[in-house]
Amino acid sequence: MSANRSRSARRLARTLASTGAVALGACLLAPAPALAAQSAEVLQDFEAWNSNHGGQWRLVADEQQAFVRCLWGGAAQFGATPQSNAEFFALARTALDATRTLHGVDGSTLVDDSVLLLPLALAGSNDKVRVRLRQVLGGLEVESSFVNLLFARDGALLSIDSQALPNARELAAPSARLDGESARALARAEFERVAGGAPSWVGAEREFVKPVVRDGQRVAVRAWAVSANSEREGAAHVAFEFHLDASSGEVLERRSLVHDFDVSGTVRTLATPGALPDVASNLPTSQALPHVEVTSAAGNVVTDANGNFNIIGASAPLQVTVKYLGPWCNSRNNDGTNYGITTTLNAASGNQVLLNPSAVTATTAQANVHLWVSRVHDWLKGINPADTAPDFQARSNANLAGACNAYYSVSPPPPSINFFTAGTIPGLSCVNMAYSSVVAHELGHWLNDQYSSGNGSNGIGEGLADTYAMYLLDTPIVGEDFCGSGCHVRTGLNTRQFCGDGNPGCHGEVHRDGEVLMGALWKVRARLETSLGASAGALAADALFSAWLNGYDDTSITTLIEVHYLTLDDDDGNISNGTPNYLAIDGGFRDQGFPGVQASLCGNFVSYCTSSTTTGNCVPTMNFSGTPSATATSGCVLSVASVDGQRTGLIFYGVSGRVAFPWSTGSTSWFCVKSPVQRTFVQSSGGSAGACNGNLSVDWNQFRATYPGALGGSIAPGTKVQTQAWFRDPPAAKTTNLSNAMEFTVCP
Ligand SMILES: [Zn+2]
Repeated sequence: MSANRSRSARRLARTLASTGAVALGACLLAPAPALAAQSAEVLQDFEAWNSNHGGQWRLVADEQQAFVRCLWGGAAQFGATPQSNAEFFALARTALDATRTLHGVDGSTLVDDSVLLLPLALAGSNDKVRVRLRQVLGGLEVESSFVNLLFARDGALLSIDSQALPNARELAAPSARLDGESARALARAEFERVAGGAPSWVGAEREFVKPVVRDGQRVAVRAWAVSANSEREGAAHVAFEFHLDASSGEVLERRSLVHDFDVSGTVRTLATPGALPDVASNLPTSQALPHVEVTSAAGNVVTDANGNFNIIGASAPLQVTVKYLGPWCNSRNNDGTNYGITTTLNAASGNQVLLNPSAVTATTAQANVHLWVSRVHDWLKGINPADTAPDFQARSNANLAGACNAYYSVSPPPPSINFFTAGTIPGLSCVNMAYSSVVAHELGHWLNDQYSSGNGSNGIGEGLADTYAMYLLDTPIVGEDFCGSGCHVRTGLNTRQFCGDGNPGCHGEVHRDGEVLMGALWKVRARLETSLGASAGALAADALFSAWLNGYDDTSITTLIEVHYLTLDDDDGNISNGTPNYLAIDGGFRDQGFPGVQASLCGNFVSYCTSSTTTGNCVPTMNFSGTPSATATSGCVLSVASVDGQRTGLIFYGVSGRVAFPWSTGSTSWFCVKSPVQRTFVQSSGGSAGACNGNLSVDWNQFRATYPGALGGSIAPGTKVQTQAWFRDPPAAKTTNLSNAMEFTVCP
């Protein structure tokens, strides 16, 4: 970020703060100076929206547009309770029109995508409905340009989260136009430049619209996507998708299509039990095989989640064939010798078919992949049966030559997840990588694409892939014992810190960057297990994770993820009184270095203005305890410590804002409360003369309640109050001096 941008960002953050809107981390508006006026209009419209819809709304600004990314925190009713998906889409469009000036998105550029119930009653909140629309310009899909609206079951709007391009109506005609063949040639050349060798395969080009940041603003660019890869015996698998500007041919983005598991684990046969790999101390056991096809002359059926099947209308004896193949997984052996068994069922019921009976290592790997792909699928469907994102057949390859790795690849098609056999690389001896958490992680990358979070270069893909594994296995360890006992890949207990919304990918490597997110989400889960009990806490964590995957389409690790979590968790359309699981969610994110989200818009004491150093060398400092209230008759003590002893003084306050003007020539003393000001009681600082042990204090709630005619006596909740202390200091130029100042917001 340039100095220019951060200066104007700070300016806007101040504008936001001064209007009472909450600026979260680096949720910045309008980097370009020309947009400042527009931002002020947006803020005005936000104020109008907020006061017309309950006063609890907040906004998160879009970093590259003078518009709102996320409007949240309150509840707004637009009409009757919707009864059908069509009515929810209609309601979504009404809500979008009503907030058009905030998010700036033209509804005619959006097409209906999907409606999904989020079963948040599982988390102790209430069920919600997510309506998603996506942007299409000139007949082309706009990359990652979704608008997600969250509604209560009765149709109250709870949030609008827009990643669509504002003010976009149609695509500008390109000045020049690259054809598909030229795009492929450019991709081939770029691959050669980056990979140091020609690709062995270049895919078909796909035209789309890519939002690109130019001069600090996100604009629509017509683009080509072309994939290329090289896959040669003994060489590393390299695959990229190139995004090329369809006018200039400029390479807009290069995405690796190989999402490594990093350095990883172990594997062997029948099927390996638990979280550990297939090693001598954890030999294969007989486990039910869900979701595989049982084929026969009398018809084909698929086993259920417990491995049961029933071929209707058949009679014994009947020959059947079973492979590690079903609707959710095609688990293959990399050398093409895919395991299968053909056997005769002799009875009408009670037949047993055992695959991999002698626990052959390479077959165990195939079995493990099938089992864990099935378990991830069943886990997600168990949380939300209406969620269709997990419903796809994952193609997998086990026992790849090489060692200590696993990867998800989307190029060349079809996509696949791939696992190396046991072996060594320099300095590391690894298990067969086809086991539990490694399978869940690689399938997780695929699910990231299904849920539109993707596997971008900022680490969100790795963080989420780990989260599927941790949550499903209910353990923070990913890739347990992959390189020997106690040698793991990653853990949710890591302390790697979030470096700010404006600093994505700050740890310089996708897995390390991902640790920030997987660490936070593990800590949210651990806190929920503490606050709700292990079982209910785990279920709440799963429900929130599933709802977030479906409710929003975050593509990078920012504070917005916590905002989205809190919006999903809220149960009364009022964020200012917190959410059922606020402490666990906010605490989990803060554990990992996220700034957290204030649930309360009141209180919020902040210190400003530096204190004077008195002629007695004291530095009086303001403090507080309790909650400032518009109605309570006590319970908010403002105090000033380290005042010179035995001095007369008082605490005063105002409601007109901050100022800072010098109190006496040459002194470091500042008067910081804009007039008019209200004095409270004159009092003695106590303590001893000549020491800095004096103290002044007043219960602000009591003063306000006792003197309703005083300034702020009938003060409205939400009002900002500035306060400071004034006391005698006879040798000083004005014979008095001042403390630092504090500002706070009055609660109801
Ligand atoms: Zn990965």
